[in-house]
Amino acid sequence: MRALFVTGTDTGVGKTTVSGAIVAALRARGLDVGVMKPVETGCPLRHGKLHPPDAHHLRAIAGVLDDMSLVCPFPYESPVAPAVAAPLEGIPVDLDVIEGAFRTLEGRHEALVVEGAGGVMVPLDDRHTILDLIRRLGASAVVVARAELGTINHTVLTVNALRSAGVPVAGVILNHSDALGSDASVETNAAQIAHWTGVPIWGSFPHLLAPDPATLIAAAEGTLDLEAIARAFEGPSDQRAEALEALDKRLLWHPFTQMADFEQEPAVIIAEADGSTLVDTYGQRYLDGHSSLWVNIHGHRHPAINRAISDQLTRLDHSTMLGLGNVRAIELAERLVAIAPPGLTRVFYSDNGSTAVEAALKMAFQYWRQQGNSKRTRFAALGGAYHGDTLGSVSVGGIDTFHQAFKPLLFEVERVVGPDCYRCPLGKTYPSCETACLGDLERVFAERGDELAGLVLEPLIQGASGMKAMPPGYLKRARELCDRHDVFLILDEVATGFGRTGRMFACENEGVVPDMMAVAKGLTGGYLPLAATLTTDRVYEGFLGSYNELKTFFHGHSYTGNPIACAAAIASLQVFEDERTLERLAPKIAYLEKRLNGLLSLPHVGDVRQRGFIAGIELVRDRATKEPYDWSEKIGLKVCQEARERGAMLRPIGNVLVVMPPLAIADDDLAKLMDIVTESIEAVTGRP
Ligand code: PMP
Repeated sequence: MRALFVTGTDTGVGKTTVSGAIVAALRARGLDVGVMKPVETGCPLRHGKLHPPDAHHLRAIAGVLDDMSLVCPFPYESPVAPAVAAPLEGIPVDLDVIEGAFRTLEGRHEALVVEGAGGVMVPLDDRHTILDLIRRLGASAVVVARAELGTINHTVLTVNALRSAGVPVAGVILNHSDALGSDASVETNAAQIAHWTGVPIWGSFPHLLAPDPATLIAAAEGTLDLEAIARAFEGPSDQRAEALEALDKRLLWHPFTQMADFEQEPAVIIAEADGSTLVDTYGQRYLDGHSSLWVNIHGHRHPAINRAISDQLTRLDHSTMLGLGNVRAIELAERLVAIAPPGLTRVFYSDNGSTAVEAALKMAFQYWRQQGNSKRTRFAALGGAYHGDTLGSVSVGGIDTFHQAFKPLLFEVERVVGPDCYRCPLGKTYPSCETACLGDLERVFAERGDELAGLVLEPLIQGASGMKAMPPGYLKRARELCDRHDVFLILDEVATGFGRTGRMFACENEGVVPDMMAVAKGLTGGYLPLAATLTTDRVYEGFLGSYNELKTFFHGHSYTGNPIACAAAIASLQVFEDERTLERLAPKIAYLEKRLNGLLSLPHVGDVRQRGFIAGIELVRDRATKEPYDWSEKIGLKVCQEARERGAMLRPIGNVLVVMPPLAIADDDLAKLMDIVTESIEAVTGRP
């Protein structure tokens, strides 16, 4: 079954009459068509209840018994747009509720005609319009337009808007707005609209004085292409989704994924997203519990970021930054420098976290050579570090599972014992340990401080090694050591940047300013690949010289500073201001803390670690001894599988579950996500 969503070029163009005609005529031909008018404004009160007239008319025409709460879940009294009526009357339009009613009716009838409210850009709330509702329901659209002069413009605009939002437009029906009939354009409008849209015109419907079923059926039989309309209900089925899954398994190679397992297991293929929710090709919805691998900030398909990207497409797609500027890259640099810790005054773009770190390493290395210091060639990095997958960033990485295989290709690093307050490498407990793990960092600086070009680390929390939290003060001490030995502090804020820790950048929590800061992931709000390495005047000036001196930083990528990605990033930073994202995050961080602490009552939750809106939950076989589950038990993957079935997308790191939703996640979605996390852990590891 598939639904047709009847929308119009304007309000009052005859959507209800035409919807009624389609329903009546197809029912007369034996098709069980149900009806829905999910949102209706301007409804009178009758016997203390709102009475949506169009919804009642459609239900009467169809002769179905479906409850009005399903046919029209959101009636409003005020005769204004739903987005205005809803707050006035205290009942927000809830797309989940509409979709629930839609699915119920879909299950009851062979076909469903859904009538919209006004045209496609009619707002339902401050984020969604009728267009979003049509997409959400997965329906094809029928556009009802006036038959007379002026209709070409409105119809073509409406069809274009539907198309650019990915809604298939099945047909256009022209409706005569009065009995007097025609102006000179009526004869030619249909052909013009068909020419400019390529959409079939299903007929020209006459003006009716009494839209009773018999009159509607007669008019529809005489004027509408009912065969084509009936065919439009026979849309694509689940077959397309199955074909995609087979193709994925045949053609793709997924990162950090054992493909032998992937090929055997059912694959989830994401087709759409909305806010904090991902939707797969079967229409299953999942809360995006890992922000699509730690990138999404303001929710998916945020209107302001969408708009910035489409505006940019009307100006410039891409132009190289090798010796050339582009407007958006400059504007973004200005904004980044304004929000970055003071002293970071230069922006070097690349396109992902690994390359942002790689650029920082090369910058530091080349800087010292150009200072005539041939001794400072080494880097210090932490055990358990993860800085990306290019060979330079793998060299400074310290996760054996990922990095061991490449050892022969990597450069040598001064490896510092990584802080880990749950499994302390020194067997101590915070705070009585007095941050003894700093001892190894101090040792490396004492022994080889004058050979170090830089110290690279992830501030506050080591992400990919399992959300290992750094004790407070560690970062500050690292800065002091770098200052004393004149070593560059390179902070990898790829995962922690853009609000994740509650501050814009994690280093702000300890008042630390690095010499180089790598950012990526959340920079574009999670939309597009873009990264930057920010650095100081001192470093920048070390690369200035005459052309012949070859002090140029010989590093750059084809898509460095891509203007579309920069436009998305500018819009994302603007959303931080407009929506007071960080201010609104504080109570969510507190709520997350409460829910994480609640998990400690589960017998196999060994530890919960949190830095702002980043959380790791470590599952252990034995809580008293901290004995881990064996890798082969795939315990983290199993919990994530349970979560998937309950409607949340998560990804584990071994036995550690990562919870890291978009900063903009709604309170009720966060609560639901944590309910799912709790239930999924219980389902796999048992209840208390
Ligand atoms: N650094 C850190 C701290 C990261 O978490 C990641 C990615 N998870 C990277 C670098 C690499 O970023 P990318 O995947 O964009 O190359």
